[in-house]
Amino acid sequence: MDYCRGTARNVNPQHNISLPLTHQPTHNTLKRQITDQLVAPSNVLNYERPVKRQKPEQLPASQGMDKRHPSSFQQLEKLGEGTYATVFKGRNRQTGELVALKEIHLDSEEGTPSTAIREISLMKELKHDNIVSLHDVIHTENKLMLVFEYMDKDLKKYMDSRGSGGQLDYITIKSFMHQLLQGIAFCHENRVLHRDLKPQNLLINNKGQLKLADFGLARAFGIPVNTFSNEVVTLWYRAPDVLLGSRTYNTSIDIWSAGCIMAEMYTGRPLFPGTTNEDQLQKIFRIMGTPSERSWPGISQFPEYKSNFHVFATQDLRMFLPQIDQVGLDLISRMLQLRPEMRIGALEALSHLWFRDLPQLRQQQVQQAQQIQMGGQGSMMMGGASGGGYGVPVYQ
Ligand code: ADP
Ligand code: MG
Repeated sequence: MDYCRGTARNVNPQHNISLPLTHQPTHNTLKRQITDQLVAPSNVLNYERPVKRQKPEQLPASQGMDKRHPSSFQQLEKLGEGTYATVFKGRNRQTGELVALKEIHLDSEEGTPSTAIREISLMKELKHDNIVSLHDVIHTENKLMLVFEYMDKDLKKYMDSRGSGGQLDYITIKSFMHQLLQGIAFCHENRVLHRDLKPQNLLINNKGQLKLADFGLARAFGIPVNTFSNEVVTLWYRAPDVLLGSRTYNTSIDIWSAGCIMAEMYTGRPLFPGTTNEDQLQKIFRIMGTPSERSWPGISQFPEYKSNFHVFATQDLRMFLPQIDQVGLDLISRMLQLRPEMRIGALEALSHLWFRDLPQLRQQQVQQAQQIQMGGQGSMMMGGASGGGYGVPVYQ
């Protein structure tokens, strides 16, 4: 049964084109903006000279209040420590607006590679409802500070905070998947790959919005082995072609990650929790079946291919996702195709039949929220804390 309403019109035309780790914008405006920046990255604020050996509080008041200076933000609590940086909650002293301040400490010997700054600056142009907005890039002597719109939680923390072993309900999964795919589709239309999609890099707010975060750094600084806090970078969402050493990976790597995230929202547990590159491949093959030259022509040419891979038979994904419905199973199976060229594109996935009832489901959510607000003020106040402020969000 074909659950995809998409025709050739909906198939992402970029899907099979390999993107050799570079932006090749096709969108005219974006292309122009990017070209401008590559010539003169003027929106990168290099404060190296003006603030040299001058503490922020010694700056003249006017300069101190410049929204593009680190001292214009009050630093609040730490939100997270990620792969490259420490992220703090912050407040714009002038407007009171909450922001997230991502501080990347730079190697004092090497300084900031200009390519990294350009790369990060490109992200300022990527404006979409499902992409966390980068307001500014501030470059001081020994750090880069990225100023983002503030979001309430990342998806990992959100799942952990649900008293249901991390499992999310059907409507939330559908709404989050739709928003995730919209964010991905927008990136891919603009020839940008995310490359590190995982629950920690998806941010949500208490309006039920989901936005992609943490772009660009992998490209700017290289794919790391350890995180900033020396934890090992997770491989759980990495596509098999990347694990096999492919260098010509493309938009389909983000779709694989999205499939893994969908499974995790159903079960509360990662689908493929590997520990090393080899173990990660094995965990994938154990469920999806070990590929061969017959099922994946050319696989033996990959650098990490081993002729003695343990041979596993393909399992029925339903065994691992007992809660999933037939149509949802069809969508996730199309995302979790071992061969990258077989994976569904983001636009095609968005027009999959599974999303057809989303408008009605959202409508029901709004009605429920209104009923609670009108009739249940008391109970909301009593029970409000249990959902961490996410009681009945209005889904976007
Ligand atoms: P890294 O590149 O170091 O992984 P991230 O951008 O992923 O950095 O940020 C690390 C963590 O900080 C995230 O997993 C999230 O918990 C938190 N965080 C990042 N950006 C925001 C934001 N805009 N609003 C709220 N929390 C954020
Ligand atoms: Mg991150």
